[in-house]
Amino acid sequence: MEKITDFYGSMVFDDRIMKATLSEKVYKSLKRTIDRGTPLDISVANAVAAAMKDWAIEKGATHYTHWFQPMTGVTAEKHDSFISPAPDGRVIMEFSGKELVKGEPDASSFPSGGLRATFEARGYTAWDPTSYAFIKDGTLYIPTAFCSYTGEALDKKVPLLRSMEAINKQALRILKLFGNTKVKSIKTSVGPEQEYFLVDRDMWKKRKDLIMTGRTLFGAMPPKGQEMDDHYFGSIKPRVAEYMADLDRELWKLGILAKTKHNEVAPAQHELAPIYDTTNIAADHNQLTMEVMQKVALRHNLVCLLHEKPFAGVNGSGKHNNWSISTDQGENLLSPGETPAENAQFLLFLAAVIKAVDDYQDLLRLSVATAGNDHRLGANEAPPAVISIFLGDELTAVLNAIETDTPYGGTKKEKMQLGVDVLPKFSKDTTDRNRTSPFAFTGNKFEFRMLGSSNSISCANIHLNAAVAEVLKQFADELETAKDFNSAMHDLIKRTIKEHKRIIFNGNGYDDEWIKEAEKRGLMNLKTTADAMPHICDKKNVDMLTAHGIFTEAEIFSRRDIMLENYIKTVNIEAVTMVDMARKEIIPAVAKFASDTASAVAVKKSVAEVACKYETKLVSELSALIDEMDTATSELESAVSKLKDITDIIKASEFVRDTMLSAMDKLRSAADKAETMTAEDYYPFPTYDKLLFGV
Ligand code: ADP
Ligand code: MG
Repeated sequence: MEKITDFYGSMVFDDRIMKATLSEKVYKSLKRTIDRGTPLDISVANAVAAAMKDWAIEKGATHYTHWFQPMTGVTAEKHDSFISPAPDGRVIMEFSGKELVKGEPDASSFPSGGLRATFEARGYTAWDPTSYAFIKDGTLYIPTAFCSYTGEALDKKVPLLRSMEAINKQALRILKLFGNTKVKSIKTSVGPEQEYFLVDRDMWKKRKDLIMTGRTLFGAMPPKGQEMDDHYFGSIKPRVAEYMADLDRELWKLGILAKTKHNEVAPAQHELAPIYDTTNIAADHNQLTMEVMQKVALRHNLVCLLHEKPFAGVNGSGKHNNWSISTDQGENLLSPGETPAENAQFLLFLAAVIKAVDDYQDLLRLSVATAGNDHRLGANEAPPAVISIFLGDELTAVLNAIETDTPYGGTKKEKMQLGVDVLPKFSKDTTDRNRTSPFAFTGNKFEFRMLGSSNSISCANIHLNAAVAEVLKQFADELETAKDFNSAMHDLIKRTIKEHKRIIFNGNGYDDEWIKEAEKRGLMNLKTTADAMPHICDKKNVDMLTAHGIFTEAEIFSRRDIMLENYIKTVNIEAVTMVDMARKEIIPAVAKFASDTASAVAVKKSVAEVACKYETKLVSELSALIDEMDTATSELESAVSKLKDITDIIKASEFVRDTMLSAMDKLRSAADKAETMTAEDYYPFPTYDKLLFGV
């Protein structure tokens, strides 16, 4: 059998290949660009392009593409072949440095939120040399950032790179204060745990809702759901195991370190986690992973559902964003160290994250807001829509001791002196128990758990990096002018804990009591996308994001509009699909069953003197439900047409939240009831039990 080590990364133009195919001078120059962002000179670009082309052609590639992440949430690509005509009628294979570095896709159909009028449709893509090029389906993929000609970001990579630069700059100032001058750069790393569902493709084909919207819009709960908890970490079924093995292989070829795989809480639900990587690379890899997951599923006659809530009443899918900051010397800044100085440094970064999450709750919340994720946050499974931080009892006790100048625990008799005392060791166990917190400290990293399974991780990390960069800036401004660094730092940490401890909550985040308590503490509870998204334009957020060069003001407003439009369009498509399914499939099926039952009554009564109580009751109940569905469908249709007339995007999103979604619920509830009373043979598409237990 082929060994993993033989094919791992075989489709990636990685460091090994660069070293082997580039001259030493070109290699060194490219490495400088990758590590330190120094501009690439065109002769180097030409040499890299030539080596990439030769390598790609050898691997069977015929095309190349600038691969980018527009605001649609999925990736985009335009394929160009390497061929170029030679004067004698032959073709030669060409790929220049210019083509590697810059592309000009026709960008008119990507959302820009008004940043780019369609008549000046051309944006450009620029190579991100820190993320390796790779081959997929006979094409050389070049990871790129996507901008308008005037330099505005039209994608999710540009602001992500800017946010990484912002946090780098501010963290370096802090490290310098600790006397650390060896560190040249810091990077944020992310390991995203990806949840997904698998359903049988033949069944999927029969459901317009899954095809059109990625989730079921109708469906009554099966008699056996996830109550038994027997699926979680249960043994993996053979067909699923084959899929996972195939998927791992494809990901490994692409240099994606898929590491763990297991069953999740719900039936048919699974998870894949890679080993963490630098944030922009992790973001590229996660987009690629989602794409490959879906493609490989088809080979197994399966469909991979990445929607946050494919089945009502069944656990939804999220994506845990494990996040840390580390230096180019390999030091994790979120890891409590061994010495008093390292401990103090850790506590300062910890305090910065606490303040950042509290000050920018709204940005974090809206960074994960989509129509799909709204079904999850706040339901009894995912974290609530309220942001809070879990630190665990031990670390919380340390912070309490600092805040109140009291001795910590039983270990010390004297009060904690930062920069002098060593922290106790925290076992991962005590920090990792609470699974209900939206933002948990897990020993040496934070786990932001509110992301939806289909979200690009870029948005969450842009806002997280930006918020932490801002607080580090405030800290550095204050500490750089202090006379006595240690005591100024002590005071700063103490004050930060005092002012921001309201965001710390170690209890059960799924509990309704917590939501009440959170309200008392003054924490934000932005329940839906319509509630959350407008906050990106709040002055404090605009000021912060522009100050760090993450977004321009125009970019911020355009992003709000794009995300709200996305929310409105998503729900609108769902509504239209529901109307279609109700009118053309569900109502006719239930009506047919009712009428067949009624005919049977007539036949029975003609041969015997029977009351037919059961059938009569059934027919009258079904008839009532048919009327209810008809009325609800008409109401939904009228909501759909009303929405068309609302031109203001905020008003439209509020109409969707307040009117459309409840009209959809009403129709669904009548239809789901009818489903449970209709004979299986009559039902027009596979029901939940078949979908969930059919693989
Ligand atoms: P869980 O217990 O939440 O299921 P997993 O082991 O499935 O955890 O996933 C944890 C994720 O966190 C993995 O992707 C892992 O690579 C990542 N991770 C581990 N250490 C770090 C770190 N220092 N920074 C960022 N991510 C990390
Ligand atoms: Mg996790």
